[in-house]
Amino acid sequence: MAAKGWVEIDETLCKGCELCVVYCPVDVLILDKDRLTPQGYHPAALAKDGCTGCNICAVVCPEAAITVYREVKPRARAAAKTS
Ligand code: SF4
Ligand code: SF4
Repeated sequence: MAAKGWVEIDETLCKGCELCVVYCPVDVLILDKDRLTPQGYHPAALAKDGCTGCNICAVVCPEAAITVYREVKPRARAAAKTS
């Protein structure tokens, strides 16, 4: 099963360049055309489920506006014992 992740985008930093949207391998990011940042750009936003927490968007963002979080699951000790 794919890892579950999510992102937070600092809209005070985002300049709407769309790089994160283009590079996201699972296409869960959009530019939100209905909103403007304080600087007047359409901000990037997480549009749907499916983020894997791969961190690519954070790496390509030239403004360092994205923080990626990834779900940490407890180790499957019970499963390991039975195998
Ligand atoms: S962490 Fe990866 S999957 Fe999630 S939004 Fe960023 S590029 Fe897409
Ligand atoms: S790459 Fe960074 S600056 Fe560009 S749209 Fe995405 S969050 Fe905004």
